[in-house]
Amino acid sequence: MRLPLETLAVGSRGTEACLHLAKRHDARFLLASTSEIYGNPLVHPQSEAYWGNVSSIGPRSVYDEAKRFGEALTMAYSRYESVNVGIVRIFNTYGPRLRRGDGRVVSNFVCQALSGVPLTIYGDGLQTRSFCYVDDLVTGLLAMIDQRDFVGPVNIGNPQEITVAELARRVLDTTGSTSEVVYSPAPEQDPARRQPDITLARERLGWSPAVSLEDGLERTVNWFREQTSLL
Ligand code: UDP
Repeated sequence: MRLPLETLAVGSRGTEACLHLAKRHDARFLLASTSEIYGNPLVHPQSEAYWGNVSSIGPRSVYDEAKRFGEALTMAYSRYESVNVGIVRIFNTYGPRLRRGDGRVVSNFVCQALSGVPLTIYGDGLQTRSFCYVDDLVTGLLAMIDQRDFVGPVNIGNPQEITVAELARRVLDTTGSTSEVVYSPAPEQDPARRQPDITLARERLGWSPAVSLEDGLERTVNWFREQTSLL
């Protein structure tokens, strides 16, 4: 949202530039799509068959609609230009090398906890997300790259669903921080629930996540601690 026009450009013209390149080099093209395709979902958990509930004019539309257009472009290059494509829909990912202060909930909470400042929950904290550890995501992406006869789209995510308030509690536990938790208004059109149905990934890619939220958070916190000690 800080770079709205750039976000639209990358999702649309950027994706098309990459599709051109893939066509020219006869390469497989993997689109890193997103659970944002489902918007604020009316179906739970979300399977690939669900078309989504997205506002074309809302504040998130610069990302959501660019990614939806990216999927449409990718399908068109598959159908009409014979480009070998695959589409993965990535659900919330976390782990080492998250950018400090990138605004996402795991990097925010971990950095806040380690600095002893309050954890900022937006809204009532009852909204849910399902967090996938980065190594699991990468394994899923590699499996999809190798599946040359599979277009997808396929969800890649960890179905372990958790409320944002519970995530805050787990981050405090993992870090041993005594930070307090403060509440502020929810962003406009913040999705209420999100959980991937990964049946298709299990069946077609033989993939499922292996790292629990507990282990993944510990690895993430350790990494942020190391970074802080290097400062
Ligand atoms: N969130 C929060 N505090 C923060 C950052 C995010 O409560 O400091 C909430 C946010 O409102 C959303 C959830 O955490 O409900 C996940 O936000 P994020 O931006 O990480 O991912 P996305 O909304 O794109 O799934």
